[in-house]
Amino acid sequence: MDSFVHDLKSSRVVFGAGTVSQIPSEIRRCNASSPLFLSTPRGLPQTQMLSELCSNAGIKPARSFNGAVMHTPTAVTLEAMTYLRDVMADCIVSIGGGSVIGLGKALSIRTGLPHLCIPTTYSGSEVTPVLGETENGEKVTRSDSKILPATVIYDVELTMTLPTAICITSGINAMAHAIEALYAANTTPIISLMALEGIKALTEALPEVLSDSSSKSARQRALYGAWLCGTCLGNSSMGIHHKLCHMLGGSYGLPHSETHTILLPHSLAYNAPAIPRQMELLAPLFSGSDGDAVRGLNTLLDQLGAPRALKDFGLKESDLDDATQKALSARYPNPRELQADGIRELLGRAWAGLPAVAST
Ligand code: NAD
Repeated sequence: MDSFVHDLKSSRVVFGAGTVSQIPSEIRRCNASSPLFLSTPRGLPQTQMLSELCSNAGIKPARSFNGAVMHTPTAVTLEAMTYLRDVMADCIVSIGGGSVIGLGKALSIRTGLPHLCIPTTYSGSEVTPVLGETENGEKVTRSDSKILPATVIYDVELTMTLPTAICITSGINAMAHAIEALYAANTTPIISLMALEGIKALTEALPEVLSDSSSKSARQRALYGAWLCGTCLGNSSMGIHHKLCHMLGGSYGLPHSETHTILLPHSLAYNAPAIPRQMELLAPLFSGSDGDAVRGLNTLLDQLGAPRALKDFGLKESDLDDATQKALSARYPNPRELQADGIRELLGRAWAGLPAVAST
């Protein structure tokens, strides 16, 4: 067995159907009494529901800010900060996907106020100490254990409205965290167990969500998988897959979970020759793998009707050489050395929507 250092950073987690009703007691647990609720504009009814839950439990909500947007622009954060101070909130409650959680983290790290998260997608951001913010079109990421939310409430009821197409891309985005954690230089036996369990939960749950989008048990299993995969993301260094997605999102405006979904089989195929042990562990988790995890992932994505081509999301063929150069200019640990030809090939196949093939 390899040597390792295990130092898991995690938030308190309350998991289960109907658990959103515990928000008042979780706020009190943080010694707070005046929450500011955060959402996107479409989350307004959800912040109203939270306000009502708190009012009924004798907690006077400070107010709601429903202006969260994608990529956590600092201008929106500063607007929300002013609002937070005006209403004298003493804790932050974010409800929604990674975009809202990003705003919650940005406010919490600036003010030191406790942040309670109620995720409604599978992004995993709620259990990571990482914050990505955009300013002047540049996305800057930082990591600090103080960014980690105090409490996360996973309530499947709040995810029932998540459209199947987003469930699928968000679920594959979660799976990407776990796959990269399996081969991270700082992985540990416990992270590996969580990663395998998280991937298994998602490979089982997503086809069920597709065939019956009203299945609470399938969506609950997907949410469970998302928690485990998010914990892997928060506790291990990410490799080529996350770096390519970050670059494509930042430089070409490609959408987050769709880009992760399209690239994942290609990133895994690129690393495959350098990670035989992990490939062996992964293969049995995909029903159509026939002993090869890349084939299994290709089959799963086709079965789910997932997006496969970057060209469908605005990347131009003429961008591919530039994107390859950008990918090569960032240096980070990855099991296989970054090689120009291999990365150009990977991006070209993902652009065209071809199936991933394990390189040698
Ligand atoms: P998102 O928050 O933008 O949500 C995706 C879409 O789903 C939005 O249109 C949203 O309105 C909709 N939605 C969310 N919940 C819904 C529900 N229950 N019902 C119906 N629609 C719903 O996207 P995301 O994929 O959750 O998160 C992506 C963002 O999070 C990116 O900015 C990414 O960089 C960030 N992120 C950060 C980390 C981290 O560790 N810092 C990790 C993962 C993602």
